[in-house]
Amino acid sequence: MTDSEDRMSNMLTEDAVGIDLGTTNSAAAWIDEKGHSVMIRSTEGELLTPSVVLFDDDETIVGKSARAASTVHPDQVAQWVKRDMGFHVYHQPIRGRYFPPEVIQACILRKLKDDIVAELDTVGQTVITVPAYFDEPRRKGTADAGEMAGLNVLDIVNEPTAAALAFGERLGFLNASGSTAEEMTVLVYDLGGGTFDVTLLHMAPGRIQTIATDGDVQLGGHDWDLRLLDFAAEQFIESGGPDPRQDPAAFGRLYVAVEEAKHTLSARNRASIRIDHARHCHAVDVTREQFADMTADLLERTVYTTRQVLTDAGISWDKISRLLLVGGSTRMPMVVEKLQQMSGIRPDRTVNPDEAVARGAALYARFLLNQRAGRQTGYQVSNVNSHSLGVEGIDPETMRKTKVTLIPRNTPLPATFTDRFTIKRAGQQSIVVQVLEGESSSPDDCTQIGRTVVRDLPPNLPMGAPIDVTFSYQSNGRLEIHTQIPGMAQPCRLTIQRSSGLSDGRIADWRGSVSAAAGFDRMAALAVTEEPRAALSLASLPLPEALTPSPPPEPPVPPDAGPVVSQPAQAEADRPNDGQTHFTTSRRSSTLRFWVLLTGWILSSVVGLAVGYLLVLWLFPEIDLPRPW
Ligand code: ADP
Ligand code: MG
Repeated sequence: MTDSEDRMSNMLTEDAVGIDLGTTNSAAAWIDEKGHSVMIRSTEGELLTPSVVLFDDDETIVGKSARAASTVHPDQVAQWVKRDMGFHVYHQPIRGRYFPPEVIQACILRKLKDDIVAELDTVGQTVITVPAYFDEPRRKGTADAGEMAGLNVLDIVNEPTAAALAFGERLGFLNASGSTAEEMTVLVYDLGGGTFDVTLLHMAPGRIQTIATDGDVQLGGHDWDLRLLDFAAEQFIESGGPDPRQDPAAFGRLYVAVEEAKHTLSARNRASIRIDHARHCHAVDVTREQFADMTADLLERTVYTTRQVLTDAGISWDKISRLLLVGGSTRMPMVVEKLQQMSGIRPDRTVNPDEAVARGAALYARFLLNQRAGRQTGYQVSNVNSHSLGVEGIDPETMRKTKVTLIPRNTPLPATFTDRFTIKRAGQQSIVVQVLEGESSSPDDCTQIGRTVVRDLPPNLPMGAPIDVTFSYQSNGRLEIHTQIPGMAQPCRLTIQRSSGLSDGRIADWRGSVSAAAGFDRMAALAVTEEPRAALSLASLPLPEALTPSPPPEPPVPPDAGPVVSQPAQAEADRPNDGQTHFTTSRRSSTLRFWVLLTGWILSSVVGLAVGYLLVLWLFPEIDLPRPW
C-alpha cells in the first residue's frame, strides 16, 4: 500500500467527531457506522459538560464539580472563558496568576477528549465549532486549544452552520453528501447561557453560505436567572429576611435554586423557590406569566437583533424556509411564542437544542473525511466578515475625522473593494492609511488594526489628486491593502495577518501540562503574574511596516502626515455596496443646516410681517384695516 492509500484508508476508518465548545456547556458527538450522529456522554453520564474549570493543586477538574466549587473557591475557578477569547489572558486571576483563555479552553477540550476516548477507544478526527462572529485570532485560538488538548483538529466550523446540518439530517433535507436538494434560506436563533446569536444561512446543493450574522455576547439564560433571582430576593426581604444577595454563599445557593425554577417554568405554569438564609425560611412562588413579564425586555433585545439581521440582508420573513432553535434557553416557552408571533413561522425544535451544534459538527467532520478520501464531491462552506473594515478619512464638509467603510459587515468572503480618496493639500508628501474595524463612523469608537504610511508621493501633486485604496479580505483572515495613485507606476502594498496570541513554542509548552490534566502547581510556572489585558486583534498586533515604492531608511513621519485621506463626492458613486457609513456625517450635517436655515427664515419673515402690520396700524390709524384686538 502506498503512503497516500494508507492515509486514505485511515481517513475512512477514523471516527468523525464534533465538539460544541460552548460558553456555558460543551458537548461532543460522533458519526456511527450507519452514518448517523450520536451524542457522546461524559464519564459522569451527562450529555452536557459545564464549561467550567477548577484549578486544584495537582489536577484540573472540569464540569459539574468545578461549577459547584465556583461559589466556594471563586479564585480557583474559571468560567465563561469563551467570552475572553481574543484577549491575552482570562480576565480574572486564578490564584494570583493569569492564564491565556485558549489554555483554559484546552482544559475543557481535554476533558471532552477523555470522554470521547472512553466511549470510542480512539480520539478520532475532530471538528470544533465557534460562533459565526468569531474573527480569525479567535478561530486560531480555538484550534490551538484543540491541539493543546491532544485532539486531531480537522477544522473549525460556525455553530449555526453545524446546527443547520443537524436539522438537515433529522428533517431529511440533507442528502447523503451533506447537501440540500433544493435552495433554502434558514434562520438560526441561538440563545445559550451567556450569549445570543442569530444567523441567516443560504443552503444550496453543495454549498452552505452565511448571509448575515449578529448577536449579543452579553445576553443569555444567565440574565433571565438574575431577574428571577432579584425577584426572589426581594420577596424574601419583604417576608422579613435579610438580603441573600449580600452573602456570596447564599447568593450561590439561590442562583442554583433559581435556575432550577426557571427550568421548571419551561415545563409547568408555576414554580416555587425555597430560600433558607440566616435562620429565616421562605418559599417564593412565581408563575410563568410573571417570569415572562419580568424578562420581557431581554426577549425584546433578541427580537430587535433578529429583525436587524433580516434588514441587513434585505430579506423578509416570507423568504425564510425554516427557523431553527438552538441553545438551552430556547426551551423557554416565551421564546417560541414571541418568534412565532413575529415571523408567522412555527419555530423548529426537532433537534434537541443542546445537541444540534455538536451533532452538526460531527456530520461536518464526516463530510470532510469522505471528501478528503475522495468518496464525495466538494462541499463548500463560506462565511461573511462580521465587522466592517475601513480606513480613517476626513469628511470634506465638516473636516472631521470619519471612518470610511471599504468592506461592510456581512460581506461574503473573500472580498475585494476599492475606494477613491483625495489628497488634502497641494504638494503633500505622505499619506497615513489607518485601518479600522467596527460599525461606528467615529474612528475613536473603532478598533485600530493596522497603520501604514505611504511616503515619497510624486512631487507637486495638486490638492484633490486621487488615490485609490483597495482592501482584499481573504477567507483565512488575511487582509491585504493596496494604495495606488493613478498614473504612478508602482502600487504600495501592506498585508495584515491577524495572528493568534500563542506562539508555536508556547503551545508546545502548555500542551504537556494540559494533556496531563496537571493542576495549578505545575501550570502556575507557565502563567503570568500581571494582567496584559489587550485584545489580540487590537494593540498586540505588530504595527504594519510602511511599504513604499522605495522605502527610505527610517524616515520620520512628517508632521503633516496625520489623517490626510479625504474622500471626494464622486467616491459615493464608485462605491459598490456601501455609502451610508461613508457620507453619513456630511449628509446629516448639510441636511440639518438646510432645515435650520429654512425654519429661521420662515420665523423671521412671519415676525417681520407682524411687526410691520402693527406699525402701519399705529402710525396710520385712519386706514381701515382689520385689527386683531
Ligand atoms: P451555551 O451555548 O452558552 O454553552 P447552552 O446552549 O448550553 O449554552 O444553554 C445554557 C442555558 O440554557 C442556561 O442558561 C440554562 O439555564 C438554559 N436552559 C437549559 N435548559 C433550560 C430549560 N428547560 N428552560 C430554560 N432554560 C434552560
Ligand atoms: Mg451554544
